[in-house]
This record gives sequence, C-alpha cells and structure tokens, in this order.
Amino acid sequence: MTSNTNTLERERGILIVLSGPSGVGKGTVCAALRNCSPDIVYSVSATTRAPRQGEVEGVNYFFKTREQFQQLIDTDEVLEWAEYVGNYYGTPRRFVEDTLRAGQDVILEIEVQGALKVKQKFPEGVFIFLLPPSLDELQNRIVTRGTETDEVIRSRMSVAVDEIRLMEHYDYAIINDRVETACSKIQSILAAEHCKKDRMYPKVIQWIGEVN
Ligand code: 5GP
Repeated sequence: MTSNTNTLERERGILIVLSGPSGVGKGTVCAALRNCSPDIVYSVSATTRAPRQGEVEGVNYFFKTREQFQQLIDTDEVLEWAEYVGNYYGTPRRFVEDTLRAGQDVILEIEVQGALKVKQKFPEGVFIFLLPPSLDELQNRIVTRGTETDEVIRSRMSVAVDEIRLMEHYDYAIINDRVETACSKIQSILAAEHCKKDRMYPKVIQWIGEVN
C-alpha cells in the first residue's frame, strides 16, 4: 500500500449559489460569510452598472462597458449572465472552474435568472434562496439603501415578487432576519453537503479499489 492510498483525496470544491430578490441582503450575508468562513472563495462578477459610492474595481465587481461585456459573452468567458434593471451582470467562468478544481468552495451571489442558468450547468451545486422577513421589509431595505430612484425601486419590487415565485427550483431557503443566523445556517448547510455520500462515493470506490 502506498502512502497516498491511506488518505482520501480532497474532493472537488462545492459551488454555492446564494440568490434571492434584490434588497434581501445577499451582499450583506456574503460579506459576513467572508469574515466568518474565509475558506469560502467569493466570485467577483462583471457588470455594466456604474460603481456605487465606496465600491472598488475587482473587489465588488469588475466594472465593464457594454462593449466589453458583450465581448465576454462572445468569447464564452462568462458562466452565466443576465440583464437586470437595464444592466448586464455575469460570472467569470475560468475563476470559478479553476477554484472548484483546486478543491475550494466557491460562492456566487447572483440574481435568480442567472442562478437558474448555473443550475443547468452545475446541477450538483448547492442553491440557497434568501427570503426577506416580509415584503414590507424588503421594500424598506430597497428604499433605505438610498441609492435608487423611485422608478428603479418600483421596478425592483416587481422583479422581486416574480423572483420569489422561482424559489421552488432551489435546494434551501433561509429567511434573512438576522445576518449572523443566516450565515450560520449557510455554514451548517455546507458542512452537511460536504458529508453527502454521493459527493464522496466515487472517490471512496476508487480509494478502496487501489487498496485491493
Ligand atoms: P446590484 O446592482 O444591487 O449590485 O445587483 C443587482 C442584482 O444583480 C443583485 O440581485 C445581484 O445579486 C445580481 N448579480 C450580481 N452579480 C451577478 C452575476 O454575476 N450574475 C447575475 N446573474 N446576477 C448578478
């Protein structure tokens, strides 16, 4: 028996998709997760939206012109993309694939249409839907963010209600009433997902095959 048959090789990383309506707090939950679970790698999206105050290129988003974004689509450099309230948003493909292959978990914080496209390509991903405690609370969160016009707020609320209907396609749903609670639920989900027999079975079969 050689030494590398003694231990089970590290499995591929898990792709976690955190989605839900705009204003539900996906960004806040993701930021908190980055603090309490530094091992989870955050995928930075590309967007044609203008940077908000305090947003940093390469940290919050890769900010692109429409022409640059179109080129990413044409050259198949985005895993998924969606048009949302007049702007394009997309997930850089290579970074996600390389990170998963290296055995690290990756989290995408994306809107619902994009999440459903990812599900077609990565059905083995873990799809988590964040819900607001109430629709009034969701509207408050969009309004108090203070960066959007009335027209954008109305448009985002209407999109939000349609998005909530799509939660049936997800594996888990979490009510985001407290960020810390939402984070610890995501950590628990991930711990359980890593123990799923189906994720380990092919490796274990190969492992015991090498021993015999
Ligand atoms: P915001 O403009 O508020 O930063 O984001 C608007 C929406 O776009 C949010 O729901 C956010 O989760 C989503 N989003 C951010 N990045 C991506 C992405 O790469 N792909 C998709 N489909 N949606 C994204």
